Amino acid sequence: MGAFPLPNASESPLNRRDVPDYLPARMVNEFAYCERLFFYEWVEGLFAESADTIEGKVQHARVDEKSTVLPEAADLAESIHARSVTLASERLRVIAKMDLVEAEGGVVTPVDYKHGRPREGPNSLELWPSDRAQLAVQGIVLRENGYRCEEGIVYYRKTGQRVRVQFDGLLIAETEELIRQAWATAERGEIPPPLVDSPKCPGCSLVGICLPDETLRAEMGETASFEQLALFDSPRRKPVKREVRALVTPRSELKPLYLNTQGFRVGKSGTAGAG
Ligand code: SF4
Repeated sequence: MGAFPLPNASESPLNRRDVPDYLPARMVNEFAYCERLFFYEWVEGLFAESADTIEGKVQHARVDEKSTVLPEAADLAESIHARSVTLASERLRVIAKMDLVEAEGGVVTPVDYKHGRPREGPNSLELWPSDRAQLAVQGIVLRENGYRCEEGIVYYRKTGQRVRVQFDGLLIAETEELIRQAWATAERGEIPPPLVDSPKCPGCSLVGICLPDETLRAEMGETASFEQLALFDSPRRKPVKREVRALVTPRSELKPLYLNTQGFRVGKSGTAGAG
């Protein structure tokens, strides 16, 4: 295996101050989802809980309680289920904590638990690209620790479905490239721009910090949101104007509330909310 071009700690603009030595598989998932999200979480150490992240943590905590040891590749018995297994690849400087590793006939299969649902492909259920990348990192670290590993499984709790993926050469090469890009992004020390009009943003736990549409609008300036026409051009199309989506609920406290209809009334019950 060739040497992996890893960043040099002393030359980094960040001095790798807070970046750990190993890139977690979970962060490769974040990078595949959104490079800016990865940067916030791994380089800047910013994290915000959402209902999804809390649900995921509770489920993983249950898995961790049943932690068991995965025997060395040479000592692998016929059938083993090892839970909460952590292995690393020195070559790629990645580390993966696996929810479950199933061993059968000398072949191991990582099983990753996700609280959501699989993606519906044209003919069958599929993994989300970011889940596939995380699972492939698990396959890579297992192989690099001497295990035979041909495929991985994601178990989606919401639908109770197991979706498999083969660790073929293309997926492994794509994943190694993703790892290289993630290291390079952290090393550059410049936060990547927000995604443009992406359906990923409304479900992102950091949307309130990132403010993707507002950031893009501020960078473009007001005039850039309109199409520039030549002097004698007739406007055949409507000018392009991108709306700033209201992805975050605005703060409503301290705003006046006007009751302008006779019979309306305002009350408050309990200590937290108005009723
Ligand atoms: S809000 Fe969108 S652009 Fe910003 S970090 Fe999340 S996914 Fe990325």
